[in-house]
Order: sequence, then C-alpha cells, then structure tokens
Amino acid sequence: MHVAVLGAGYAGLTAVRRLERRLPDDAGLTLVNDEPYHLVQHELHRAIRRPDIADTIRVPLDDVLDRAEFVEARVESVDRAAGTATLDTGEELDYDYAAVCLGAETAFYDLPGVEANAIPLKRLADAERVRERFLDADGGRFVVGGAGLSGIQVAGELAALADEEGVDAEVVLLEMADSVAPGFAPDFQEAVRAELDDRGIDVRTGTAVAGADASTVELESGEELDYDGFVWAGGIRGPAALGGERPETRANLRAENGTFLVGDAARVVDDEGAPVPASAQAALREAKVAADNIAALVAHDREGTGGFEPRLDRYTFDTPGWVVTVGDGAVAKVGPTVLRGQAARAAKATIGAAHLSSVGAITNASRLVREEL
Ligand SMILES: Cc1cc2nc3c(=O)[nH]c(=O)nc-3n(C[C@H](O)[C@H](O)[C@H](O)COP(=O)(O)OP(=O)(O)OC[C@H]3O[C@@H](n4cnc5c(N)ncnc54)[C@H](O)[C@@H]3O)c2cc1C
Repeated sequence: MHVAVLGAGYAGLTAVRRLERRLPDDAGLTLVNDEPYHLVQHELHRAIRRPDIADTIRVPLDDVLDRAEFVEARVESVDRAAGTATLDTGEELDYDYAAVCLGAETAFYDLPGVEANAIPLKRLADAERVRERFLDADGGRFVVGGAGLSGIQVAGELAALADEEGVDAEVVLLEMADSVAPGFAPDFQEAVRAELDDRGIDVRTGTAVAGADASTVELESGEELDYDGFVWAGGIRGPAALGGERPETRANLRAENGTFLVGDAARVVDDEGAPVPASAQAALREAKVAADNIAALVAHDREGTGGFEPRLDRYTFDTPGWVVTVGDGAVAKVGPTVLRGQAARAAKATIGAAHLSSVGAITNASRLVREEL
C-alpha cells in the first residue's frame, strides 16, 4: 500500500504530517515537492520589503517530516485513473491513494504582453525580482494588477518600501471589480480601502487591464499607464500538472479512484454546495479531511473483507475571519468585528505563528512574531 502527497504547501504539509500519524507503519508514504522547503505563502509579500524574512517563512521539509520519504522533484502530470504521477526526474510514482496539493499558478488570461512583462508573486524568487526592480528603478510608478489578498498586500509593501528607502514612488493598484478584496464582506472591503488610501496608494477599481508591453500597461478603457515595475496578482489557474485546470471537487475531496484534490489546485465545493475560496485557511482544513479519508480507506483496504467503503468525511467551509497587512497597517475581520492597527497586526502574526507551530516549525513561529510585532 502506497500513499503519495504531491506538493508541500499548506495542504500538502498538513496532509502528510497527519498521514504520518494515521497510516499503519507498513504503508509507504511519499511527499513530492519541487522545493526542499514549505513556504508560508501568505507572508510572501513581506519578502519584497524584508528579504531576511525568507528564512522565517521557509521551513526545511527534512526538519518537519517524521517517517514520510521526501522526493524533491517537479510533478509533470498526474494520471488519476491509473494512479500514477510522472516526475521531472523521469520517475513514475505509482500510488494507491494520493493527495494532490500542488497549489495554483498565476493566471494571465491570455492578456497580450502581461505574462511576458509582469512579475507574478508565487515564489520567493518572484519577491526578490519585485524588490530588485523597485530598488533599481529608484522611484517612478509601480503598477499592481489585481486587488485580491495578494495584490493588496503587495501594494502595501511597495508603498512602505518607498517610504523606508525615501524614494519618490507612485503605487497604483488596479482592480477590475467595483471594490478591492472582491468577494469579501463590504465592511472588510471598506476598511482595506481606507488603509490603502491612508498609505497614498492610487487605487483604481472598475479598471481592467487589457494588455502590456515593456513600459506600459494598457487599460480596457484605452488609457495607457507608463510603469517602472508591473506586478500581476490578477488571478489563479490550476497547476500545469493538471493541465492548468482546477477540477471541481466534492466535499469529501475525492476526485477519482484513489486521487484526492486539495487546496488551491481544486475548485472545492463544500458540504453545503458552496464554492470554497482559494485560501491558505481552506487548504489547511481541507487537508485534514482528505488525510482522514485516505487513512480510513487504507484501513478498509487492509481489512480485505470487501464490503462497502467507509463513509467519508466532508468538508464545510467555515472561516474564523480574514486578515491582510497593508505595509505596517493591517485589517482583520473576526466574526462581525473589523479591526485595524496593532490589534489587526497582532492577529496576522498570530495566524502565521500558529500555522508554523502546527507544522512543527516552532523556532520559525517565534521569529515571525518577533519580526511582525
Ligand atoms: C502574496 C500572497 C498573499 C496571500 N495572502 C493570503 C492571506 O492573507 N490569507 C489566505 O488565506 N491566503 C492568502 N494567500 C493565498 C494562499 O497563499 C493560498 O491560497 C495557499 O498557499 C494555497 O495552499 P495550497 O497548499 O493549496 O498551495 P501552495 O501553498 O501554493 O502549495 C503548493 C505546493 O506545491 C509545490 N508545487 C507546485 N507545483 C509543483 C509541481 N509541479 N511539482 C512539485 N511540487 C509543486 C509548491 O512548491 C508548494 O510547496 C496569499 C497568497 C499570496 C501569493
């Protein structure tokens, strides 16, 4: 019996650590990831302003795995019907059960010139590129496309970096929808907007990007915006290993036979039929359900008595709240309450630290709290 976990982000690392505890000792368990570390992606924007934070938000996988075998490789494709993952090493990894947790990639929607000219923000190398571009330009205009959770926080970091470096930079945040943080509660949107405005960020909602070249962003209105740096946070698509798709997945996270799809890699529909927002908090909670379901199926298979499969757990999306940072400011929505200022920053730091502790990275957790507060 062999179980594979593909990807070591929020979903993958949570799933593999839970499976280490729940699978029988003689079941093989393999984790595949294209980097030797887990990245706390919801803090990635911080690395634009504070490159040293990389050591805090990067957790070496060897330090937090117990018995799972770690393979550093890129998954090229997943054959869900056959139960096989093809790796860039040429190896074919056969599995009885797999949690596919490969996350999402940046979607450029075929907008002419955007992929070629904009910098996305998914990896530490992206944050380094944004920082270098900013420091090399020494001022000018930085355009951020997309005012979802990542775009808001990138714009905030760029504005704060300009202040810290004492350079004259204009940060423009473009959003196609009528408000920032589309899809979130109106009181959260208003507080985020106020925080962005307070930091002098030029927020333009109802403004769609139509294309770009090496120095200009073209808007759907026909207006052209010259830029010195262009960061694209306009949306996500599925991983290349899944053909760029985010397959719709039911609340038990099982996609086909032994393959489970978890986190941003899937469009999960929860137990109440609601689409689950792509987010770190959903990925973490889905992973627990998927790991428990895989463990239950492995136990059933080992009994070898045939009969009906066990009833699988189902995921229901239920959020304790949302927090974003905007430079040194922050906005938190906890239940009906919206907080700004130090309380919101503390909430953000606590969430990051709680996550790091939950994956066994205690030192990183305490470092994060020190750095954030
Ligand atoms: C700047 C920024 C800020 C954000 N802020 C927030 C926030 O405040 N709150 C929130 O809830 N969410 C936030 N998000 C979104 C959140 O980070 C994602 O929803 C979350 O990372 C999804 O978790 P995941 O485990 O599905 O995927 P990921 O965390 O992306 O993990 C995927 C893993 O798979 C690996 N991988 C990818 N492709 C391959 C491959 N082909 N082969 C092998 N390994 C591969 C990656 O290296 C990674 O380890 C933010 C995202 C960004 C970029």
